[in-house]
Amino acid sequence: MRIRVGHLYPDYLNIYADRGNIAVLTRRAALRGHELEVTSIGIGDELAPGAYDLLYVGGGQDREQALVAPDLAAKGRAIGEAVTGGAALLAVCGGYQLLGRGYRGRDGSWMPGAALFPHETVAGETRMIGDVLIECELETGVHTAVAGFENHAGRTLLDEDATPLGRVLAGFGNDGRSGFEGCRVARAIGTYLHGPLLPRNPALADWLLAQSLAHLTGGPSEPLPALDDELEARAHAVSAQRAHDRGGRR
Ligand code: GLN
Repeated sequence: MRIRVGHLYPDYLNIYADRGNIAVLTRRAALRGHELEVTSIGIGDELAPGAYDLLYVGGGQDREQALVAPDLAAKGRAIGEAVTGGAALLAVCGGYQLLGRGYRGRDGSWMPGAALFPHETVAGETRMIGDVLIECELETGVHTAVAGFENHAGRTLLDEDATPLGRVLAGFGNDGRSGFEGCRVARAIGTYLHGPLLPRNPALADWLLAQSLAHLTGGPSEPLPALDDELEARAHAVSAQRAHDRGGRR
């Protein structure tokens, strides 16, 4: 199968090796006999809602975010339609912030967002930096520990009825207080975790691939054949240990 990926603003939102996430998806798809067709979607480009099985948005600093925010807000309806239509989506850090209703940056300016996720973000005085470990329930009853690195000044406040990606076991997460990390809407996931995220979290990478394939075929999502993930498991363990060493939730 040919999985169609729309990579939003790779020239602007690409810090913390976010491109590594695409590399992992490409490799893990290829090992199952599938191909990834990655299309860059830039400022002013059309985003046809049914054209992608997976949308990806990486992280960026306030300056880059301010440059793409108006365009992302303009694409909000198309992104919403894509997700309602069953497309998968991964948004990391700066991209995660801008897929909410908006972000108030350090200088007080309001950056409008795509309003896919029910949240708003406000920049704080201090940065929240370090390894982080969260517990997710990607499928009902299946608990997965997801490890990564966070580095953000933004505090993301979820609406009361929002579904977080997971609960913080160690680290700050969305706002350093709520105990929640990330957000989920249908097959869309937003998170502060990067580093990049997917090389050390193969279960999450495979979940995204399975959701993308389900969108492509129009069928339910099926678990993918297992791979030898020894190195990935070691990377995950190192990251999880670092988060534990940092102490419990702060
Ligand atoms: N500029 C945002 C913040 O500091 C996002 C940073 C990032 O993507 N790492 O909160």
